Amino acid sequence: MHSRSLRARSWALPTLLVALPAIVLACSSTSAGRGAPPVVAAAPQTHTARAPAAAEVQKAAQARKPSAQASDVERVLHLAATDNRVQEHLRHLTKEIGPRLTGSKRFDRAAEWCRDQFKGYGLDARLEKWGEFDVAFDRGRQQGRIVAPEVQELVFQTSAWTPGTQGAVRASALLEPADQAGLDDLKGKLAGAWLVRRAERPDGKLRRAIEDACEAEGLAGYVAGARGDLLVMFGGHKVKLDKLPKQVRIQLRHDQHAALEARLAGGEAVELEFDIENTFTPGPVPCFNVVADLRGTDQPDEYVVVGGHLDSWDGAEGAQDNGTGVSTTMEAARLLAAAGVKPKRTIRFVLFGGEEEGLFGSEGYVRDHEELLAKTSVALVHDGGGTALQGIAPDYRMFPDVEAVFAPLVASHPKFPFTVRELDALQNSQDSDHAPFLTAGVPAFFWEQSEEGYEHVHHTQYDTFETVDPEQQKHSATVVAVAALGFANLDHLLDRTTLQEGKPLPRRRMGVQLDGAKVTEVTQGGKAQKAGLLADDVIVSIDGVAVKTQGEVVSALQKGGARKSFRVQRGGAEVEVVLDYTDDAAEKERAERAERKAQWLREHPRKPTK
Ligand SMILES: [Zn+2]
Repeated sequence: MHSRSLRARSWALPTLLVALPAIVLACSSTSAGRGAPPVVAAAPQTHTARAPAAAEVQKAAQARKPSAQASDVERVLHLAATDNRVQEHLRHLTKEIGPRLTGSKRFDRAAEWCRDQFKGYGLDARLEKWGEFDVAFDRGRQQGRIVAPEVQELVFQTSAWTPGTQGAVRASALLEPADQAGLDDLKGKLAGAWLVRRAERPDGKLRRAIEDACEAEGLAGYVAGARGDLLVMFGGHKVKLDKLPKQVRIQLRHDQHAALEARLAGGEAVELEFDIENTFTPGPVPCFNVVADLRGTDQPDEYVVVGGHLDSWDGAEGAQDNGTGVSTTMEAARLLAAAGVKPKRTIRFVLFGGEEEGLFGSEGYVRDHEELLAKTSVALVHDGGGTALQGIAPDYRMFPDVEAVFAPLVASHPKFPFTVRELDALQNSQDSDHAPFLTAGVPAFFWEQSEEGYEHVHHTQYDTFETVDPEQQKHSATVVAVAALGFANLDHLLDRTTLQEGKPLPRRRMGVQLDGAKVTEVTQGGKAQKAGLLADDVIVSIDGVAVKTQGEVVSALQKGGARKSFRVQRGGAEVEVVLDYTDDAAEKERAERAERKAQWLREHPRKPTK
C-alpha cells in the first residue's frame, strides 16, 4: 500500500553505529540467561572501529561452530551464516505460486503453503480469517499484439478486478476523437473495435459522450498509455457480481502507446489483438492471515509479532512487494526453530492478507486479538523491498532496550550496518501493517531500509525474483530472527508510555521532492513554497545540523523547535530560508512531549558508552 515518494525513512542520522570485533558477541552469550543482551553503548553519538571485511566475518562465522554453551543468538547467527534458505522461500513464492492478489486462488495456495512450511518447522500454524470479499479475481494468461500491418508484441496490463476478453479479440484500432465532429465520424464503427486513448485527453463532456457511444455500440475495449515505462498495478476490490465492470481497460507501456497514437493520428490503419484471461468468481471469498507461533517458555501469553503482508498486486511476481518480507519472516521462524531457541515470550509470525487493498489483514488481526494487545510487546513489519534491513527508530524510553536487542547485529555484517535511531515519539506512516498496531497503542515498527531501486519494482511489471539480491535478503532474515528473539527475551514488555500519551505526532512535512538533500520539486501551497525554497536548492544544514541525505533532512526537520532555519546552496550563494511550523496543530503537543522527554532523560541518565 505504501507510496514511497517522500516517505523518507531517515537512517542516515544514526544515533548508534558501532562496528565492534566479534568477541563482543561472545559476551552477549553469557547474558542470554539474563534477558536482554548487554547494552553496548547508549550516548547518541557515532563511533566507527575498523570493521573486519565481509569475507572475514563470513569465514569466521562459518568456521566458528558455536560451542555447546553458545548463546541462542550466536547459534542463530551461525545458522543464518551457514544455512540460510530465505531465497528458497522467495523462489517458491514467486516462481511456483506467482502473484498473490487478495482473494485469488494463488493467494490461497500461498497461504496454505506458508502455513504448512511453518508447521514443518515445528510451529503451531493456522489460517485466520479476517473477512470476505464479494468477488474473487484471478488473472490468467494474457497476450497483446499489433497484428496488422505488422506483428509486434505489446507490453500492457489491465487493472485487477477488471474484465479480460472472451478469447483472442482482433479488431481495428480507432483513435479517440478530439472533438464532437470526430465522435460523430466514429459512430457506427465502434462495435468490437479497440479505442486508443489520446495522451492529451478530451474534456470531460466529450469524454462522457465517447464512453456512452462506446458502451452503446459494444466497444471491445480501451487502450490507454501508461505514464512511462512502468506499468503500475492497482485495482478496486469493491466489485459486485451483478455490477461487474464491462469494459476491457488496457494500460499500454508509454513508448508503445505513443507510437500507436502517432500512427493512428497519421491515418494509418492498425489492427490489434488482445487475449486476456481475467476471471471473476462469486463470493463470499474468505480472506486470511497466516499465523504461526513459537511458544514462549516463561511468558507464553506475551507476544512479539513479526511479519509482513503475503498479498501482492498481480502485474508481475510480487517479489519485492512483498515476497521479500514474507520470506524473511519464514526464514526467521525456520532459523529460530532449527537453532532450538526457547524464547521467554511467544514469537508470533504473521503473514497478513489484504494489505494492498487497505491494511485489512492487520486491522483484522488487531480487531480479533484485542485481548492480546496489552501483552503484545512489539510488532515488526518487513515491507520495504529487498534491500538489507538497516535501521529501526524507537522513542527515547524504548531506546536502551532496543539498542540492546540489536547489539549482536551491529558487527554481524560490516557491509550492512544496523542503526538504532532515537525519536521523540514513534512515527505512524499509516501505510503498512505496523500502522493498526500503533493506532491501537502497541509499539510497532516498519523496518528501515534503502529505497534504492524500489520505485522501479513497486507494483510494476518488474517486480520479479531476479531483482532481489540474495546477500541482502539473507542479512535481512538474520536481522528479523535476532530481533524477534531479543524482544522475546527482554525482562519486560517494551515501554509504550509515549504511545499512551496520544497518537504519534504527524511528521513535519516540507512539500518537496528530494534527491538526497537537493530539492527537485516544490509543491504548490506547501511549507517550502511559502518559505521561498526553490527547486535546485541544495539543503546544507537545518538549525545548524549538516544534512546530506533525504533521511537526514527529514530527521533533522522533526527535531527541535517549530521555526526551522535552512541554509541552502542556491547557485553560487548560500542563503537562509526559514520554514515555520509554529501554527501547525501538532507543534504545541510536540513541544510538551520534548519537555517530558528531557525530564525523563534527566531521571534516567544514559550509561556512558565504553
Ligand atoms: Zn507492500
